[in-house]
Amino acid sequence: MIKIENLRKTYGDFTAVKNISFSVQPGEVLGFLGPNGAGKSTTMKMITGFIRPTAGFVSIFNYDIEKAPVAAKSLIGYLPEGAPAYGDMLVSQFLRFIAEARGFTGEEKQRRVDHVVERLALETMVNRPIDNLSKGFKRRVGIAQAIIHDPQVLILDEPTDGLDPNQKHQVRELIRGLSKEKIVIISTHILEEVAAVCTRAMIIAEGTLVADATPAELESRSRYHRAIRLALTHADDSALSNLSALKGVRTVEVSDENTGFTLIPVNTDHSSELFSAVTQLVASQGWSVKALYVESGRLDDVFRQLTLLESARDTEAMEVVQ
Ligand code: ADP
Ligand code: MG
Repeated sequence: MIKIENLRKTYGDFTAVKNISFSVQPGEVLGFLGPNGAGKSTTMKMITGFIRPTAGFVSIFNYDIEKAPVAAKSLIGYLPEGAPAYGDMLVSQFLRFIAEARGFTGEEKQRRVDHVVERLALETMVNRPIDNLSKGFKRRVGIAQAIIHDPQVLILDEPTDGLDPNQKHQVRELIRGLSKEKIVIISTHILEEVAAVCTRAMIIAEGTLVADATPAELESRSRYHRAIRLALTHADDSALSNLSALKGVRTVEVSDENTGFTLIPVNTDHSSELFSAVTQLVASQGWSVKALYVESGRLDDVFRQLTLLESARDTEAMEVVQ
């Protein structure tokens, strides 16, 4: 497993990461979630041995990243922020170079390169300079170099940042495929990504760990957990008052030009009873329904609460969570 204890990074009088501790087991896909500037990349750089912590300790399967850096780093694949590479190298040259740096020679080196080229579907790109590739392909080259030695630990900093929706989907599928038996840590400021690929989510705000839970547990902390969502094709003026009058309703939020309603129950344990009451009301009123379901909760709502609590004045946080 990997173990992080009281990790801290200070730049001058500014503390980017404040005493973060946690451990991760094989099979876990851990998502670092947080607004820009929260300290996600800095934490990853310390875990991978790219920068030295001001204080604290990192061990990768019992190898101390500072005392046994080569042994520890041989177990890690790392995609740094922005997937940097040597732009004037051909994809094939770059991957051979990385394979050599990872200690492979001869046939084994070529086998490793061929394998990641196939895995990342880079066949048509191998003879192109990296600078000429699209963002999606560049990112795939970055992931290819990170997995070329089949590492136990994969650390991917914003692996889908700046990709179009199809490319995002492909990279997420790939991460899911890679995560069996490995430790994967990804950072993202996209909430849906955490629900899509992670088994565990850590919310970081201002260098501090403010939540460590499964995506489902986080959703359950949302004020929309077990809320009832009703979307109608048309709604008359009485719809809101009828819904608000139901027993067990705390509040009703209106959206979608007054045809969408979110009923927040007084008690989430009685959400099913409220759901039945809504169903009966719909039938008795003869409403035409587009959607009716119980919500699991909204991650963005929890994220906003936790990151804004950390600093009500943090304008960077406001930008991300709006
Ligand atoms: P994130 O990846 O969550 O967006 P970072 O870890 O990149 O955040 O940055 C955390 C904070 O540390 C930011 O305020 C950033 O400006 C600051 N920071 C990062 N690297 C340096 C550096 N080399 N010198 C000074 N400040 C830095
Ligand atoms: Mg970052």
